[in-house]
Amino acid sequence: MEQLHIKSGQGDYTVDFFDDIAILLQSVPREHKVVLLVDRNIANLYADYLAPLIKSMPMLLIDATEEEKTLKGITQVLNFLQESSCVKQSVVVAVGGGIIQDITTFTAHVYYRGLKWRFVPTTLLAMSDSCIGAKCGINLNEFKNQLGVFHSPSKVLICTKFLDTLSDTDICSGYGEILKLMLTNSAKHYDDFTKCIDQLGFRNSELDKFIYQSLSVKKSIIEVDEYETDLRRILNYGHTFGHSLEAITQHEIPHGIAVAWGVDVANFLSLRRSILTEEDFLVIHDFIVQHFSYRISCTVSAEELIQTAQRDKKISDGKLNMVLLERPGSLKIVPISFDEALATTITEYLRSSHVVYWD
Ligand code: NAD
Repeated sequence: MEQLHIKSGQGDYTVDFFDDIAILLQSVPREHKVVLLVDRNIANLYADYLAPLIKSMPMLLIDATEEEKTLKGITQVLNFLQESSCVKQSVVVAVGGGIIQDITTFTAHVYYRGLKWRFVPTTLLAMSDSCIGAKCGINLNEFKNQLGVFHSPSKVLICTKFLDTLSDTDICSGYGEILKLMLTNSAKHYDDFTKCIDQLGFRNSELDKFIYQSLSVKKSIIEVDEYETDLRRILNYGHTFGHSLEAITQHEIPHGIAVAWGVDVANFLSLRRSILTEEDFLVIHDFIVQHFSYRISCTVSAEELIQTAQRDKKISDGKLNMVLLERPGSLKIVPISFDEALATTITEYLRSSHVVYWD
């Protein structure tokens, strides 16, 4: 696939695509001191590929869990950078999914006021969405992504062969963010996308194309509004109640599946406010039910969801700035009050929809 060039106020960078994992991992820079931050599961699965690198550079293995994406986990990584004698010119290479990326972005930003970092995404979510855009989120107490910085990678290197070992659940999670980006993009792209998934399932021959299209949609938004002052806020579509659900289930539900569910909740709010037609709501809802249904082990109430959403970063003047769909390819931001009407709509949604279900 053709290289993507991302414009950034912190320095432009490229996304390169590789067919062979071996070539990819050999492409770490040699001119400066390099340290590796690697997802522990990746280190086990791809030990043979990493072996030549480990001989010449320090490597820290990180568990890809939300518990590590905290100040405690960050402190361990900062200690490792210091023990590895990292200096201002050192380069951090991160290999893993969104969790390893968020940890790396934050640590690379604060250590010596900023180290260069490169990213080798190994999950579908990271390849199709999070790897560009410079943003990171670190959890504080039980709440998701409360701390964060913007710190661009200097290079992103993608090899979709990594996805062969990714679990079906994590493939589904990656598709949650792809779904969001396809709905953000255009009715035509969304239709082509859903037809393909309905016919061929998630592991299909078009996946590379969907990754490229998703990154292209995100690129077109972040290049206009890198620091989320305006347009970029639409990328939070599905995230308000998605994050609430992640917090309530204590991260039992993978991020992208929570986002797909959050898209459905947002669409229901949009339907009840006569912004989205019933026909559009139902077509998208049926697709989400069919491909993103997920069983959780705790119950969820409208009250808990709304209470947790009150920690959302997108609140201003006491109102929730919800990203709502008008039709595929068109989103708008609507301030929503934390009132009885919101509670009634969420209660109605939970009663009638079974995208996320419990016994
Ligand atoms: P992840 O990093 O949580 O990893 C999921 C699981 O897959 C882990 O068990 C990991 O070890 C394993 N894994 C990773 N690559 C593998 C492979 N190739 N083969 C087998 N197993 C593999 O997954 P994710 O979905 O990429 O990341 C989710 C996180 O990303 C959340 O914390 C979310 O908040 C964050 N996120 C960040 C951004 C951003 O812009 N910074 C955007 C979206 C999501």
